[in-house]
Amino acid sequence: MKLLFERSVEGRGNDFLPEIKTGDKRPADKYQRKTKLHLPEIAEVDLGRHYTELAKQTHGVNDGFYPLGSCTMKYNPRIDEETASLKGFTDLHPLQPVESAQGAMELLYKTEKLLCTITGMDALTFAPAAGAHGEYTGLLLIRKYHQEHNDSERVNIIVPDSAHGTNPASAAMAGFKVVNIPSGPDGGVDLDALRNAVGKDTAGLMLTNPNTLGLFDPNILEITKIVHEAGGLCYYDGANLNAIMGRVRPGDMGFDCVHLNLHKTFATPHGGGGPGSGPVGCKQFLEKYLPCHKVAEKDGKYVFTDPERSMGQVRSYYGNFLVVVKALTYILSLGKEGIREASGKAVLNANYMMNQLKDHYHVAYDQICMHEFVLGLDDLKKETGVSAMDIAKGSLDYGIHPPTMYFPLIVHEALMFEPAETESKETIDEAVKIYLELFEKAHSDPEYLHNAPHHCPIGRPDETKAAREPVLRYEFND
Ligand SMILES: *Cc1c(COP(=O)(O)O)cnc(C)c1O
Repeated sequence: MKLLFERSVEGRGNDFLPEIKTGDKRPADKYQRKTKLHLPEIAEVDLGRHYTELAKQTHGVNDGFYPLGSCTMKYNPRIDEETASLKGFTDLHPLQPVESAQGAMELLYKTEKLLCTITGMDALTFAPAAGAHGEYTGLLLIRKYHQEHNDSERVNIIVPDSAHGTNPASAAMAGFKVVNIPSGPDGGVDLDALRNAVGKDTAGLMLTNPNTLGLFDPNILEITKIVHEAGGLCYYDGANLNAIMGRVRPGDMGFDCVHLNLHKTFATPHGGGGPGSGPVGCKQFLEKYLPCHKVAEKDGKYVFTDPERSMGQVRSYYGNFLVVVKALTYILSLGKEGIREASGKAVLNANYMMNQLKDHYHVAYDQICMHEFVLGLDDLKKETGVSAMDIAKGSLDYGIHPPTMYFPLIVHEALMFEPAETESKETIDEAVKIYLELFEKAHSDPEYLHNAPHHCPIGRPDETKAAREPVLRYEFND
């Protein structure tokens, strides 16, 4: 399709841009641009058509089923967008006097308390801008804790081999050495491997539970105990809280700090480049190390304070505030029972779907799952030549977004499904029918699937080239 610049016709004008009201205040000569500013000139109707055409080429939750595992592509109620677009919130400036921003500060304060209740933590910062940034901040908390206890030997962070890729990456960024431990045959942490891995050099453990296989580790209390007894701290990757919110709390599982992805579980759409929010919660003994600018209540007013032994600042100002507005709206509109119901349905949906597929596809760990499950298509590939990629591409022709592919790394030909709680039984039934058809097709006409999708605007782009050499700028001739 044509780009806006290619649709532009000189002289057509672009008076849909608002008039400048500040008067003609030009910067000094040397700062003024020497070349023409290329603004597309296009009629409003053509502009509308351009964006509609673009929208038709993408797939979102409003288009169809989107079971992208570990990403929680659920429907986010419109009311959350509505509150986040209230002028009182959108027109705030981070440098305005706190007396005139009391409502916003109260919102941060109350959301902190609610998320602490949900996670079983005592304090929380909204500074981190996303999940991986939250991990990094949480790891800095752990580092600071050991530094303050003159425990400079503790340089290792233990990470299971099923971990999300951001975990070892964040640990390395925060200056730790990553120690990988294998999973046991049941997909959980291998307790003996953990016992062997801990020692005087252990700074902490990073774990997500349920893990990326969608399995809840029943040994969790023993796991956190082993790490604590060795002098380490326990970090909970709470990016996907969908499976447990309202039911189990990281704080009760023995974790000392946690991050959440508000842009997965708490009503901000995930993907598209943000904005996100990865708040970090911690137990009381770590509170004094949290990043700067926390809201506190003092004499009936809300003020900003810096924690006593703060690690400093991890982001400008106070985080992505409007994402917090959506999270609070979501929590309050669902209420205590609604939050619990959402996690219940997320788990029910995943088990329902997994059980319908498992007579045909191989389920990597055949046990009750949480909010997601993983298929291993190794056997199918050996039998028919059809890979996880082929099945994923095949589903595109049916208007289904592919599941997460080739992750977690410990499952060969992995497809990871997360049919979020907002999907209906009918949608899942329809999707199951499609995946069974694709299974059938793999045996009857593998070639067809090797070439899928057949009806999408783009088929099989060179993903490496797209990542390594992205073309993000339009080159003008003059
Ligand atoms: C999504 C996710 C992350 C990373 O979150 P970002 O906001 O993408 O940085 C970390 N851990 C798990 C388990 C996740 O699913």
